[in-house]
Amino acid sequence: MTHDDKKIPALTPQERKKRMLITRHGMTEQDPVARGTNFNEVNLGYDTQTATAEAKRCICCPVAQCMKNCPVNIDIPGFLSLIAEGKFMDALELIKRENALPAITGRVCPQEIQCEGACALCKMGKGAVAIGHLERFVADYERQSPKKCFIKVAPATGKKVAIIGSGPAGLTAAADLARLGHKVHIFEAFHKPGGVLIYGIPEFRLPKETVEYEINGLQQMGVKIHYNHVIGTIHTITELLDEQGFNAVFIGIGAGLPRFLGITGENLNGVYSANEYLTRSNLMKAYDFPEYDTPIKKGKQVTVVGGGNVAMDSARTALRMGAKKVQIVYRRSRQEMPAREEEIVHAEEEGIDFMLLTNPVELEGDENGWIKNMQCVQMKLGETDASGRRRPVPIKNSEFSISTDLVIIAIGAGANPLLTSATPDLKLNRWGYIVTDEQGKTSREKVWAGGDIVTGAATIISAMGAGKKSACVIHEYLCRK
Ligand SMILES: Cc1cc2nc3c(=O)[nH]c(=O)nc-3n(C[C@H](O)[C@H](O)[C@H](O)COP(=O)(O)OP(=O)(O)OC[C@H]3O[C@@H](n4cnc5c(N)ncnc54)[C@H](O)[C@@H]3O)c2cc1C
Repeated sequence: MTHDDKKIPALTPQERKKRMLITRHGMTEQDPVARGTNFNEVNLGYDTQTATAEAKRCICCPVAQCMKNCPVNIDIPGFLSLIAEGKFMDALELIKRENALPAITGRVCPQEIQCEGACALCKMGKGAVAIGHLERFVADYERQSPKKCFIKVAPATGKKVAIIGSGPAGLTAAADLARLGHKVHIFEAFHKPGGVLIYGIPEFRLPKETVEYEINGLQQMGVKIHYNHVIGTIHTITELLDEQGFNAVFIGIGAGLPRFLGITGENLNGVYSANEYLTRSNLMKAYDFPEYDTPIKKGKQVTVVGGGNVAMDSARTALRMGAKKVQIVYRRSRQEMPAREEEIVHAEEEGIDFMLLTNPVELEGDENGWIKNMQCVQMKLGETDASGRRRPVPIKNSEFSISTDLVIIAIGAGANPLLTSATPDLKLNRWGYIVTDEQGKTSREKVWAGGDIVTGAATIISAMGAGKKSACVIHEYLCRK
C-alpha cells in the first residue's frame, strides 16, 4: 500500500520528526488489587482526546509494514489517519470492510507480534502506535453512539453456504460471504455463538456483551445461526450438501479437546481441564453466583499447569472466584511462555505466583478422593527443540511437593473427532486436524475448513484470516457455478 492508492497523508520530514517525539499513550486499567475481586474488564479504553493524540503518532510510512503483518488485511494507516482527524465512524467503516469483529480483535489480538510488531516506531524502539487500542476505541465508540456503522450487503446471489462452528473463523467466513450476497447459515454446537470468545476468554478480558454486539451485526446482515446443532451428530455434511440444498460448507470447529498430563491422580476430584473450568465459569456463568447456580469448585490454594493465554485466564479467574493463593506451574522459563506479554504482566500484578522451571509428576488425593498435593520436579533448559524453544529437562533428585485444593490443567487442546470421523473422504493429518490447501480447500468436494481445526491451537486473528481466505475462494467457486 502506498500513499497514492490509499490517500494516506504524505508527511513532511519535520512533521514526521515531531510525531516521533510523542510517546505512546497507555490505557487506563482497573487497580490490580481491586480487579482481583471482580470480573469487570481490566482495560478501560481510550477517551476521544487520547485516541486522536495516539493516532497522530503514525508516521505514515510509504510502505505500511503494519498492514502487511495483518492476517485480515485491515487498512491500518487509513483508519489511523481518519482517527487523527476525529472521523471515528469513518475509521470504523474502513476497518469493517475487512474485519467484522473489531471490538474483539482490538482487545485480544496479539498485536505485539502482528501489526504493532511491524510498526516502524516499534523497530526504532519508540513504542509502536497502539493500533489495537485504537481499533477497540472506534468499535466501542460506535457501540456507545446512537449512530451505527452497518456493513453493506450485495444483492442476493441465491447461493446458500453452511458454516460449521461460530468461532472467529466461522464468523469471519460468514461475514464475508453474507457481504457478497450469499445466504449464510451457521450451525453451532453450543447454545451461544462465539466459540472461544464466549466459552474460553473471561469477561474481565473480553466482555460478553461486546461479543454479542458484534455477532448481532452479522445477524443484521442476514446470517442465520442455528444453536445446539452438533454437526456429525444431528446432521452430517453430506446431508447439508445433498439434502438441505447448501452449495458449499466451511468447517471452523476449533480444537477444543483438552490435553492432559498423563500422570497419576489426574482423575481426582478438584482436577479440571482449563476447558471445563473456563466453560463452567464463562459460558455457564458460575462466576455470577447466585444469579447462576453452576457447580464449580472454588479452591483456596489453586495450581494452574501451563504457560499460555489459557493458563493466565484460568489463574486469574480462580483468583476472582475467591482463591487465597494461585500459582502457575510452568516447565520452561518466563521467556518461553507462549501467553501474551500483557496477560503475563496482568497476572503478575494481580499477585499470581509463577513457579517456573517446574513440572508436575504426580497428583495426590485425600481419603475422600479430593486433590491435596502436587508432586513436582525442578527443570533446567536443554537443547533447542522443534518448537524453537529450549527443551525442559528434569533435574535429578529435585522432587518437592506443594499443597493445593484445585488443579487446572492448561497445557493445550487437540482436534475433536466428532465431526471429522462422521465425514467420509475428509483427509486428516496424524493429529486429526483437517488437511487443506493454502485457501482452505479440503479433500472433500464443496468443503473448505480453517482456524484451529486446520492449524492446531493458534490465534483469533489467524483463524479469522483463514475464514477470510476461504470465503473469498468459496465466492469464486459459487460465481463459477
Ligand atoms: C482460554 C483461551 C484464551 C485465549 N486467548 C487468546 C488471546 O488472547 N488471543 C488470541 O489471539 N487467541 C487466544 N486464544 C486462541 C483463540 O481463541 C483460538 O485460536 C480461536 O478461537 C480459534 O478460532 P476457531 O474459530 O478456529 O475455533 P473456536 O473459537 O474454538 O470455535 C469453534 C466453534 O465450533 C463449535 N463446534 C465444534 N464442533 C462442532 C460441531 N461438530 N458442530 C457444530 N459446532 C461445533 C464450537 O462449539 C465453537 O463454538 C485463546 C484460547 C483459549 C482457549
